[in-house]
Amino acid sequence: MARVYNFSAGPSMLPEPVLKRAADEMLEYSTSGQSVMEMSHRSKEYQAIIDQTEADLRELMNIPDNYTVLFLQGGASTQFAMVPFNLMNKNHKADYIITGQWAKKAYKEAARYGNARVVASSEDKTFSYIPKITRDMIDPEADYVHICMNNTIYGTLWHELPDTGDVPLVADISSCILSEPIDVSRFGLLYAGAQKNVAPAGVTIVIIRNDLLGHAMEITPTMLNYQTHADNGSMFNTPPCYTIYIAGLVLKWLKEMGGLTVMQQKNREKAALLYQYLDESKLFRGTVVKEDRSLMNVPFVTGNDELDAKFVAAAKAAGFVNIKGHRSVGGMRASIYNAMPLEGVQKLVAFMKQFEEENL
Ligand SMILES: *Cc1c(COP(=O)(O)O)cnc(C)c1O
Repeated sequence: MARVYNFSAGPSMLPEPVLKRAADEMLEYSTSGQSVMEMSHRSKEYQAIIDQTEADLRELMNIPDNYTVLFLQGGASTQFAMVPFNLMNKNHKADYIITGQWAKKAYKEAARYGNARVVASSEDKTFSYIPKITRDMIDPEADYVHICMNNTIYGTLWHELPDTGDVPLVADISSCILSEPIDVSRFGLLYAGAQKNVAPAGVTIVIIRNDLLGHAMEITPTMLNYQTHADNGSMFNTPPCYTIYIAGLVLKWLKEMGGLTVMQQKNREKAALLYQYLDESKLFRGTVVKEDRSLMNVPFVTGNDELDAKFVAAAKAAGFVNIKGHRSVGGMRASIYNAMPLEGVQKLVAFMKQFEEENL
């Protein structure tokens, strides 16, 4: 068996100890005589799994008691509709900051249900920076302000949150959840699809401040109402049981490592290694302004499409897979989520140096 270094933007690598543990427990979970895949979600064993997963998430992210954690389906993309259905309910206005394709999709969806407004956008420079936001740019009457915290495609991160005053801040944290500590109390709502940093695809984590529950628009489908899921412990219907179980194993892995401060150190070390090389390289360069660089997604180019393609092919042959950039940016993108070991980045940088020597 030869496992590759998978730089995919998502679904992405999972920690090897998690995969091994899941393999060990495949035929029989604990003493249940069955796989978690086969288990009733109404069983005592499964209730213990989902409860522990929530407890570990709360502990790791330091989620205050006045927030509810939900395990939903439909991906982050379904949240683009659920957020306005549930939150755009007082003045029917919401402010969106457009920092990439996901933020734009969220905005477009919200605009179908109410008065969504673009506060600022970095599309003028291919989303290579985070716009500067001051409080006076925010509509104090907006029901919420939406940001995409880490822009998976373009490789930018909000290192500092915008000041939105009393207007609740909503953030898509699909590609940075659990990568470093965040202050949950600064947000009204957080959401994340699992397949970048938490688990295989299939579960979406929502963390919502309790006062924002229970005000959904009249037309909100039952399944898209946060209250439905909050009232039923994320078991109004069958939850994505196995994915939640894997998420639980990933959270245990993070806890054993020492939590999100330790994870942040590791992520910073990995990202610094790659960015430092990109800054020194005469062949490759990063595409994002330095102060807004993501810790998770690192896009880079040579400036020559043919050379980019040659690099992607050579990297693949050497065991560095899924490193091709998103079609809207071109070039390369190395996604270095939590599960990517330092060694993977070290080896990639060594490979890039060699490629540079041979192709400059
Ligand atoms: C991947 C991603 C999405 C889309 O997630 P789905 O689960 O496929 O709907 C949305 N937002 C961000 C920031 C992402 O990285």
